[in-house]
Amino acid sequence: MKKIVILGAGTAGTMMLNKFSNVLDKTEWHISIIDQEETHYYQPGFLFIPFGIYTRKDVVKPKRDFFPPAADVIVSQIDKIEPEKNRVLLASGAVVPYDYLIVATGARVRPEQTEGLQGDLWHRQIFDFYSIEGACALAEFFKRWQGGRLVVNITEMPIKCPVAPLEFAFLADSYFTERGIRAKVDIHFVTPLPGAFTKPRASAILGDFLDKKNIHLTAEFSVGRVDNTERSIVSWDENAIPFDVLVSIPTNMGDEAIARSGMGDELNFVPTNKATLLAEQHDNIFVIGDATNLPSSKAGSVAHFQSDILLENFLSVAEGRQPTAIFDGHANCFIESGFGKGILIDFNYDTEPLPGKFPLPGIGPFSLLEETKTNHYGKVMFRWMYWNFLLKGLELPVESHMSMAGKRA
Ligand SMILES: Cc1cc2nc3c(=O)[nH]c(=O)nc-3n(C[C@H](O)[C@H](O)[C@H](O)COP(=O)(O)OP(=O)(O)OC[C@H]3O[C@@H](n4cnc5c(N)ncnc54)[C@H](O)[C@@H]3O)c2cc1C
Repeated sequence: MKKIVILGAGTAGTMMLNKFSNVLDKTEWHISIIDQEETHYYQPGFLFIPFGIYTRKDVVKPKRDFFPPAADVIVSQIDKIEPEKNRVLLASGAVVPYDYLIVATGARVRPEQTEGLQGDLWHRQIFDFYSIEGACALAEFFKRWQGGRLVVNITEMPIKCPVAPLEFAFLADSYFTERGIRAKVDIHFVTPLPGAFTKPRASAILGDFLDKKNIHLTAEFSVGRVDNTERSIVSWDENAIPFDVLVSIPTNMGDEAIARSGMGDELNFVPTNKATLLAEQHDNIFVIGDATNLPSSKAGSVAHFQSDILLENFLSVAEGRQPTAIFDGHANCFIESGFGKGILIDFNYDTEPLPGKFPLPGIGPFSLLEETKTNHYGKVMFRWMYWNFLLKGLELPVESHMSMAGKRA
């Protein structure tokens, strides 16, 4: 039996396990998946928790619900990979050998990387919403908050779902309006980027949305420390922005096991071939999802598009052929814009988000770069699609490669 070992049973790892199980001959291949947690978190749902739209129970399910019945599941922390020996060492002391390795260990927030972020005010007046604990603590805080200066700050790029901080600001505008205290809440969006978003065309449009919603944008602000006494974020060049409540998107990093294995960059992301998804240094290791160092967005939709490419290239490599399937950086993101509306963007490494209709050219039902109620329903439906199709590795009506059909240049 040849052995495939998948590291991480989050969005990408679970999808790959299901895809492999559907196509590989079970008498020839043994597939193991390793994760330290038994609970699967629907991370896109974290966005809605602070505003009371979802609670914890809406975003969690047992991981095992999504594994094929015969899967070899190992619950343990991964200590390190020894690529030169084709084996993985677990914290339990077990050694897991492999012929092919799939790294899907994702990314997580590391607030301790910024001085003062986890100081006295942590989870009292300073929160994150990229972790379940942060999102739930902020929900409790917002219930009682009567207004003041709310600062949403991205510490540094790259982050998972780069539109989520903007969505947070839009939803805050909507939430405090509905609570009748919007006039008392001064919302500031502070980012290290030159504008509201990573892509210039979408950035201009999303920047206009911020303006329209009376959310103040400060661009090119690189936070160096958080001053808990003065209640301000302070940049490396000593500019201070005061807050009553800080919602931080802390530094996102790959797992420490990647660093211990000597396989990561300075943020523990694995250098990955941007087309084939093979690890740069190893021809029997693929990398998928947030664990890569690719310039594509770190998003579940991206991991889904990558999974088709990875499967095709895996089958080629396993048969001794060259991997020829190419990942084009395709990303597709619904942006919740508040008041029951949303915006949709679709782009790849080379093409900026463009206006038009999606996924059916000329028909939609979704509109690209426009704010509509249907786009909001798309975002709401995504959770159902995630549990029922995406994680199970089933086909979705969206191609892995970005299509120009229905788009206006
Ligand atoms: C607030 C928020 C909003 C988002 N919104 C969207 C959205 O609207 N649309 C979208 O497409 N994406 C969205 N995302 C991003 C999406 O959730 C991630 O991109 C996706 O989950 C990445 O999948 P992954 O498998 O690479 O990582 P994960 O799903 O995070 O899985 C990694 C797994 O590896 C395990 N692991 C890591 N290290 C170890 C170790 N040492 N030992 C054992 N196990 C380990 C972890 O326990 C985890 O289960 C959002 C994310 C956040 C935080």
